[in-house]
Amino acid sequence: MTTHRTPTPADLGNDIDIDLDLDVDTEADATDVIVVGARAAGAATALLLARAGLRVLVVDRSRYGADTLSTHALLRGGVVQLHRWGLLERVVAAGTPPIRSTSFDYGTERVTLAVKPAHGVDALYAPRRTVLDPILVDAAREAGARVRYGVTVHDVVRDAAGRVCGIRGRGNDGTPVEHWARWVVGADGTRSAVAEAVGAPFQRLGRSASAFSYGYWSDLEVAGYEWVFRPGACAGLIPTNDGQVCVFTGSTPARIGRGGRAVFEEIVAEASPDVAARLASATAPRGLRTFAGRPGYLRRSHGPGWALVGDAGYWKDPISAHGLTDALRDAELLAWAILDERDDPTGEGAALRAYQATRDRLAADLFEVTDVIAGQAWTDEEIPGLLMRLSSAAAAEVDATDRLAAERPAAPVAA
Ligand SMILES: Cc1cc2nc3c(=O)[nH]c(=O)nc-3n(C[C@H](O)[C@H](O)[C@H](O)COP(=O)(O)OP(=O)(O)OC[C@H]3O[C@@H](n4cnc5c(N)ncnc54)[C@H](O)[C@@H]3O)c2cc1C
Repeated sequence: MTTHRTPTPADLGNDIDIDLDLDVDTEADATDVIVVGARAAGAATALLLARAGLRVLVVDRSRYGADTLSTHALLRGGVVQLHRWGLLERVVAAGTPPIRSTSFDYGTERVTLAVKPAHGVDALYAPRRTVLDPILVDAAREAGARVRYGVTVHDVVRDAAGRVCGIRGRGNDGTPVEHWARWVVGADGTRSAVAEAVGAPFQRLGRSASAFSYGYWSDLEVAGYEWVFRPGACAGLIPTNDGQVCVFTGSTPARIGRGGRAVFEEIVAEASPDVAARLASATAPRGLRTFAGRPGYLRRSHGPGWALVGDAGYWKDPISAHGLTDALRDAELLAWAILDERDDPTGEGAALRAYQATRDRLAADLFEVTDVIAGQAWTDEEIPGLLMRLSSAAAAEVDATDRLAAERPAAPVAA
């Protein structure tokens, strides 16, 4: 609903410049937090803030339930978060198969690890994004968040002191859209308009990137997550909804090129003759999707009135299968930080600084080792050690998230 109305500083708790010709959503005058991006990071942040009683508006240029360019293997940290938020049962009810083992094929050896019951979960899951993202959005709505699709944000609004206090964008029909709030959260992915608008500096840059092709096979025999790591020829099998298995190949951007089935099959055959044989007798998809690769980065994650979460602030190569898990973790860290900021009379941003410090500490080794693996320049002998480091960093993250949750008895996780 749009209408002409002049907001007052009291509407926002901020000292804003008032433009008499603005098109504004009157409901937005009472918004605490605007979240840009309604997927893993944004919908989860909105859910937690809304459950804690904040008035949250989520905007996204996409549409409800749309797919996105991403495979979707959740690691233990992500599954634990969904369980703690009471959403894992919805993932299971959507027919997402439990994953009870992970195997690593290094060419020289194959190691299979059972998923041990721990931290309240006894299996991993890899829901399609058409399943996971709507579950998070539905839960955010149920908690009271308003969600508007079809809005593309292209700038932020600042008050007279320079603090971010809103967003500017356009609806699908071209209508200018403007909303105000006390905080703006950029959860708008790797090409974040919010990060650009606030000028969030890059604090760490990766040196390498892998490219990926993937598609969905039916009638494919699979035993849990299956990862194959050969230099320049990686592959993976991810059991998912509707009895399908997401099969991906990863290599250098030069080798993956524009994708295509011939390159895909060549990489699978080189990575694992066993997987190639199983694919040959399964039902192949009509098409494959290709990601050309992007080196990792960490951006500054906060400033006056704004914060970044998920890929908008922290991206690492998908070879770690860790982006979603980190997005869910950081959603919770950021939700706590915003709640602390709200209660901090000094308004100096200490909680948001702590949010970034925790994110960066947990990211430190994971980012580095992911960058090395993404370079595809390791040997068969080196890769087990690199994956061990990756797995230790991931385990440390789960422990840290558990500790943080235990320290926060009033954490915004209860439904
Ligand atoms: C090929 C590939 C494979 C991957 N595989 C895995 C995997 O197996 N496991 C894993 O954990 N991670 C994986 N990832 C990473 C994972 O996809 C991301 O980490 C995850 O999507 C981050 O979620 P997000 O909510 O931060 O961002 P996104 O999922 O990118 O969501 C951002 C949202 O913001 C919206 N948006 C963007 N710009 C604007 C704007 N200007 N205005 C309004 N809305 C906007 C978009 O429409 C989108 O809905 C993979 C990524 C790729 C590319």
